[in-house]
Amino acid sequence: MAQFANIIVDISQEKLDKTFQYRVPPRLEKRLEIGMQVYIPFGNRRLTGYVIELTDTAEYDIAKLKEIQGIVSESIPIESHLIALAGWMRQNYGGTMNQALKTVIPVKEKKKVQEHKRVRLAMHPVEAKSELAELIRKHSTARARLLEELLKEQELEWEVITGKLGVSGSVIRAMEELGIVRVVAETKYRNPIKNLKQKGYDITLNEEQQQAVDAVLADYDAGVCGTYLVKGVTGSGKTEVYMELIAHVVAQKRQAIVLIPEIALTYQTVMRFYNRFGDRVSILNSRMSAGERYDQFLRAKNGETDIVIGPRSALFAPFPDLGLIIIDEEHETSYKSETVPRYHARETAIERAKMAEASVVLGSATPSVDSFYKAKSGEYRLLELKQRVREKPLPACEVVDLREELKRGNRSILSDRLTELMEDRLAKGQQIMLFINRRGLSGFVSCRACGHVIKCPHCDVSLSQHSGAKMICHYCGYEQPEPAVCPSCGSKHISGFRAGTQKIELVVRQRFPQARVLRMDTDTTRNKEGHEQILSAFANQEADILIGTQMIVKGHDFPQVTLVGVLAADLSLHVSDYRASERTFQLLTQAAGRAGRGQLPGAVVIQTYDPGHYSIENAKMQDYESFYCQEMEYRSILCYPPVWNMLSVLCASKTEEEVSQGAKRLAEQMEEYIDLHPKGKMYLFGPTDAAVAKVNDVYRKVIYIKAKDYQTLVEAKDGAERFVRGNGDYKDIAIQFDFNPVGGF
Ligand code: ADP
Ligand code: ZN
Ligand code: ZN
Repeated sequence: MAQFANIIVDISQEKLDKTFQYRVPPRLEKRLEIGMQVYIPFGNRRLTGYVIELTDTAEYDIAKLKEIQGIVSESIPIESHLIALAGWMRQNYGGTMNQALKTVIPVKEKKKVQEHKRVRLAMHPVEAKSELAELIRKHSTARARLLEELLKEQELEWEVITGKLGVSGSVIRAMEELGIVRVVAETKYRNPIKNLKQKGYDITLNEEQQQAVDAVLADYDAGVCGTYLVKGVTGSGKTEVYMELIAHVVAQKRQAIVLIPEIALTYQTVMRFYNRFGDRVSILNSRMSAGERYDQFLRAKNGETDIVIGPRSALFAPFPDLGLIIIDEEHETSYKSETVPRYHARETAIERAKMAEASVVLGSATPSVDSFYKAKSGEYRLLELKQRVREKPLPACEVVDLREELKRGNRSILSDRLTELMEDRLAKGQQIMLFINRRGLSGFVSCRACGHVIKCPHCDVSLSQHSGAKMICHYCGYEQPEPAVCPSCGSKHISGFRAGTQKIELVVRQRFPQARVLRMDTDTTRNKEGHEQILSAFANQEADILIGTQMIVKGHDFPQVTLVGVLAADLSLHVSDYRASERTFQLLTQAAGRAGRGQLPGAVVIQTYDPGHYSIENAKMQDYESFYCQEMEYRSILCYPPVWNMLSVLCASKTEEEVSQGAKRLAEQMEEYIDLHPKGKMYLFGPTDAAVAKVNDVYRKVIYIKAKDYQTLVEAKDGAERFVRGNGDYKDIAIQFDFNPVGGF
């Protein structure tokens, strides 16, 4: 029973940082919870505030602390839910309450939501022209300038007129009074899709789709809120299932959130929702300013929208009566936050749904191992869509062994087989996608003659290249020098694989000078719309070959693509990450799904040094279940999630000595805690260098802990936090926690 409560008095977002501490009177001790709205004395007034933290540590002189007066018990405002959710996130992912609050409550822009004014011509252009002649004759230069411009543009922004044109506001108003122009004010909240045309909707679900919908709704209508995993290949009609569920929820005056990875949030996707639900839909994306996002959240809160679609952060839309959360492409790594709190949108969605008595529907063609495991164990309910709506065969898939190519003297990035098929497609005027699944910085070392990869003897993940010809395991700290020859076959062709998209473009242009080539990677998509531009240029057949990273495997449909080449499938296989095989399987399956979407049959060529690897073999066969079984074997043996849980603790500091010592002592402390801990087994490894051991002159060390039970890890985190808090040795060391890391530190 906590004795003190930290409270934010005003929920206006600029003041989220400021909390006040109050005493919890004994009569409230049992009832008070994080997120609750309470009455408090403030100065000589009585105000309301939100409880954001309950604690036994007084931060001020106890004698001076005032008491909470009571709980505002009427309706629970949406803020309470979100604050409670922030409390849950802080507890389960670490970090401070303020960091958690800032994640769930959108930041209001400092300046007020501006009224957006535009000026239009109010008379017929012919009339306006004679008016213009008159103004010129009278030497009313400012008025003439505005009218002349309006004759060209029909409509101008107020700011453009007063700025660039140098025409004052009073001149505009005067012309408005004369009936020459009209000033129109835009609505307060910007709705990014309000100018679209709604097409209407007529699709009847097929039997499988209807069964999935019925299963969810039977529970929903009975007041049972579960989590469902819809597993169905691309094109099996998952999106239609989502929309049917949303329609049901919205008809009952409740609201829905749809999470879609940003990269898949294309114009087509948005239009499908818009065609069915009109402007009750609002869209969020990361290109929006804080103010634009805030507007959308206000619309949600005020009941102006029923559906919010967006990436991870859309999860926190302040809907007053949330009924449904959809997470499409639930396996995507972008659902895990890379900043504190490092929350996973899937777990957080389930928690939010629990608070709101809402349902959660996850969807994917290649579910994450985590989710499929939970579906198998009955925690989620599995719903499968086995057929594609328009019966189209999956493309034929070939695997090319790059070791054989090398033996035959072909050192190019393009295998003979891929080159041959490319020639064929180019001759037929069909399109090609070349895909390299490169990710992150961590370089592994492999033998180009036999495919051998240098791995950690203890962790079965690849060792990472570090400066000084060193190789390090990021899970246990094992270290060895980089070998000069392959330990397996003795070949000298052992090195890090370094080819990027640019290099590939060069090779392709040399080999096929007549082909039109587009490249898509972080370089070519840096500007705002770059990503969408390249994809639509390719969709419009302005190029024959599209080269890119994993960005190109999602989003658009390219009916003319009949060949997909995966250049080095192993690249994503050997990053030092226990999820590497899962990631590879997903990427390959998705890349393969890009070929043959139109009338023409497609082919896929997967080039690899490791053709026997189960993630590649199963991707070739498009066999999810078989992949899953083999992957689970590996995860069980090595105690990785989802069988076990894992926590990484990052320690970072400007001084190497300080962080080494601090991390070491923290590890010892945690080890001691583990020994004393009565609950189940835990293992601790490290500290070891982080994957990126130094960033901006800040040194980074990581400690890893594995435990069967998630809660055990949460307790270990609490213990670490207690140890570090107020400990002078740690005042210059930043500590971060990451539960079941994706990618990791
Ligand atoms: P997924 O989300 O699984 O990739 P979609 O929902 O996008 O699948 O469906 C693929 C295509 O099939 C879309 O163009 C969609 O409009 C269409 N479609 C889906 N279900 C039906 C149906 N029951 N009847 C007709 N067309 C459908
Ligand atoms: Zn070798
Ligand atoms: Zn190791």
